[in-house]
Amino acid sequence: MSTVLQIGAGGVGGVVAHKLAKNRETFKEIILASRNIKKCESIAKSIKEKNLGEIICESVDADNVEELVALIKKYNPKVVINVALPYQDLSIMEACLQTKTHYLDTANYEHPDTAKFEYKEQWAYHERFKQAGIFALLGSGFDPGVTNVFCAYAQKHLFDEIYTIDILDCNAGDHGYPFATNFNPEINLREVSANGRYWENGKWIETKPLEIKQVWAYPEIGEKDSYLLYHEELESLVKNIKGLQRIRFFMTFSQNYITHMKCLENVGMLGIKEIEHEGNKIVPIQFLKTLLPDPASLAGRTIGKTNIGCYIVGSQGGQDKTVYLYNVCDHQEAYKEVNAQAISYTTGVPAVIGAKLICKGIWGDIPGVFNIEQLDPDPFMEELNKQGLPWNIIEKVGN
Ligand code: NDP
Repeated sequence: MSTVLQIGAGGVGGVVAHKLAKNRETFKEIILASRNIKKCESIAKSIKEKNLGEIICESVDADNVEELVALIKKYNPKVVINVALPYQDLSIMEACLQTKTHYLDTANYEHPDTAKFEYKEQWAYHERFKQAGIFALLGSGFDPGVTNVFCAYAQKHLFDEIYTIDILDCNAGDHGYPFATNFNPEINLREVSANGRYWENGKWIETKPLEIKQVWAYPEIGEKDSYLLYHEELESLVKNIKGLQRIRFFMTFSQNYITHMKCLENVGMLGIKEIEHEGNKIVPIQFLKTLLPDPASLAGRTIGKTNIGCYIVGSQGGQDKTVYLYNVCDHQEAYKEVNAQAISYTTGVPAVIGAKLICKGIWGDIPGVFNIEQLDPDPFMEELNKQGLPWNIIEKVGN
């Protein structure tokens, strides 16, 4: 039984804390720390009301390595689960290194001023983590996360050769607001408004934002307009899936979402550089975040389902085949269980599974910094079925 330290008490953080508390046989002591202790306390209250026991709340500035080191030393956790923002990845990794503690996150490092999605700076920690004898698990959310594990599972069991992968992310939930984002607005809008990119025959091909649209049919949902985006798991999957010829990522957006986003972009509200407003310095996208509904508050009012999966084409035993490996998650089911909408749920549950496999010694025996698809997918796939994210396969052999 292990002690675990969770940092971040937003939409995803709420799910992680509830699910850790539902796995007490692995996580004996749970510490939840965030910038604002009130958010931690309100999650702790909900956990207690659900008869899932007590958790400890702390406040921490996760940009400050010294504060993090002091917090880690106070509790000596087996693993730190980072579900704060991608801006904090490096400071939390640094604190883990200094205290020789395992690390886990769900999103790659981003610098607040540059909006670059790259693993470069986190991969640069590999040798130091190796020498310290500790393990970092990068991208243990849904995408990245489960989608990478689906690819690893397909490579291990379903194909001799993989030709192409399309990662499909469909959210058919309806929250009834004219415009809102289903996870942190700043991170979400930076991702969607950036140029698209996909990888084909050894080269990255850049597209304009939302330039490529394709209609995909999602099981249990139906056909939806889906747009090609760059998504961080593409960077590690091109290295770790052998013989790949092409990989792309598609996400669904309603026309309403796109129209609002374009209007906001046209008037400069998605800007990430500081500007002066009536004598005050503001960053437009951060100001916009304060005006938009808090994603965690969408939970009770969002109805519908998500379908996220990997459409993979390749061959096995000399025959071509196509596989769609996916999960469907219902927003209201997630709300009933842990007060969250499906986007937070599908991100938080895999973070807990990753932490569980580390605490049980199933993953993490080889030190260093790893993307999730570099590990054995089987125990993770087994846990998905037990922890509330069951997966399905549609397989078609031949053309
Ligand atoms: P939220 O904005 O809802 O929550 C972020 C939390 O981190 C808040 O509690 C916030 O505190 C806290 N925080 C921010 N800065 C600091 C800091 N300097 N020190 C301490 N705490 C801090 O985000 P989400 O819960 O929606 O997302 C959490 C993470 O999950 C993000 O990294 C996001 O990119 C990732 N994600 C990954 C997905 C995947 O599938 N892989 C999908 C969706 C999200 P405060 O309330 O004070 O601001």
